[in-house]
Amino acid sequence: TTVVKIGGARAVDPDGALADVASLVEDGEDVVLTHGGSTAVDETLAELGEEPTYVETPGGVVGRFTDERTMDVFKMVMPGKLNTDLVESLHNEGVDAVGLSGTDGKLLCGKRKSAVRVKEDGKKKIKRGDHSGTIESVNADLLETTLAGGYTPVVSVPILGTEQSGGYTAVNADADRAAAAIAGALEADLVVLTDVTGIYEDPDDESTKIDSAATPEEFAAVTDAAEGFMTKKVMAAEEALEGGAASVTVATANADDPISSALAGAGTTLE
Ligand code: ADP
Repeated sequence: TTVVKIGGARAVDPDGALADVASLVEDGEDVVLTHGGSTAVDETLAELGEEPTYVETPGGVVGRFTDERTMDVFKMVMPGKLNTDLVESLHNEGVDAVGLSGTDGKLLCGKRKSAVRVKEDGKKKIKRGDHSGTIESVNADLLETTLAGGYTPVVSVPILGTEQSGGYTAVNADADRAAAAIAGALEADLVVLTDVTGIYEDPDDESTKIDSAATPEEFAAVTDAAEGFMTKKVMAAEEALEGGAASVTVATANADDPISSALAGAGTTLE
């Protein structure tokens, strides 16, 4: 089984990946496609005359604050527009795709975290009303049943969050970590497609691409090299491997057969 994560960045063109999913499925390989789309959520918020809220943790990490209105837009854009567009394109490639959000069949579940510690104007505060959570369980059976039926699942966040009261609320979760959790649960190879050809020793110099990492020393080199958003991808890759994934490859989406190439050694492979 191969789990593919396709980035949401504007610089990522999904067409090559979708054609490759079709040829892998044709060859009898089980493929689960997952996707992000943070940029599209921000664009839709802007079109609606609203602004995304980003907060800084006391540790200096910047992340999205998902208030109720943002969560509504998130639902419209991620499992709504983006997921449906990918399902539509896969049908055009001859793939019988099934769109699922993390809330469907309790596919991705975890506790909701509504209060977050933030730093505003140099002061530490608690900000309430966040709709976010960390994945604690994956309904692998739902994916396996879907795959066994000959369908190709296309998975999107949100996830199903549990409240302290025991109730459920859809909440935002990081798409790379969602892909990682799924790859771990399915003991699959994870291919993370993005807008760079791999993880570079010098983030600005493609010629310094790290081909692979397997030892703790090699992993440390990868962690040191990653900056900004790539840091989250490396953390997600480690979670995937700890969770049972066979391998994780970070590679470019903007190429012919990007998934097959990644599985054959292109990009940066962690195992
Ligand atoms: P996506 O939207 O596809 O999930 P991100 O924007 O989250 O992708 O992450 C990819 C970005 O990470 C690259 O465009 C690059 O700017 C950045 N990056 C940071 N450190 C590195 C590195 N060491 N090697 C390659 N890219 C890096």
